[in-house]
Amino acid sequence: MRVDESANERMIRLQLISRGVNDPRVLDAFRSVPRDLFVPQHLQAAAFEDGPLPLDRGQTISQPFIVALMTQLIGAKPSDAVLEIGTGSGYQTAILARLVRMVYSAELETDLARDVKSRLDQLAITNVELRVGDGLQIFRDRAPFDVILSAAAPIRIPNELIDQLAEGGRMIIPVGSMDEQYLWLLEKKSGRVQRTQLDAVRFVPLRGPK
Ligand code: SAH
Repeated sequence: MRVDESANERMIRLQLISRGVNDPRVLDAFRSVPRDLFVPQHLQAAAFEDGPLPLDRGQTISQPFIVALMTQLIGAKPSDAVLEIGTGSGYQTAILARLVRMVYSAELETDLARDVKSRLDQLAITNVELRVGDGLQIFRDRAPFDVILSAAAPIRIPNELIDQLAEGGRMIIPVGSMDEQYLWLLEKKSGRVQRTQLDAVRFVPLRGPK
């Protein structure tokens, strides 16, 4: 091991590059967003581990590799407007913000959303709009989106989201129950939606508004 390698850099090499994440823009985004900033104080020792970590209110921070995989799969471009469902810790939000024009991120839990703003401020990220509420509805006034990324899994792909996707837009979303879930990639081309089933995953369920 190189002695000067930071924990974040090591995470990038061992967990992302070794598993095929090779988009240089995506890797640079990970270099500029230290994961420990998004991890609760009592879990700092585990901040760069190869797995999801618990957040308050029974929610989780996604595994770094899954965040990277989803980010690479949606092919984020500097001109894109992105809808993110499930802000959680804001880690995926910050990564996306480095890559695109604007991120609209929705979180149902008020308690989680509260911490995110100050974390993004610490990284001088200004191209994110956060709202508390149901991600299927709450940013309808900002639609259409070039990219939709969901960090919470519905049982089936919601039509509300397909409606909010721009022509040429891409959506990445886990779909299924807690027992069986797959990532799906959707693309809207000439008004038609092309759907591809990808890896098996495990995300928290997408819930309705309270
Ligand atoms: N990528 C995030 C993962 C968050 S977990 C991270 O790395 O921190 C998924 C989040 O989706 C949870 O915080 C949960 O509260 C939220 N969620 C579930 N259903 C939702 C909905 N309908 N609208 C918005 N957020 C939702």
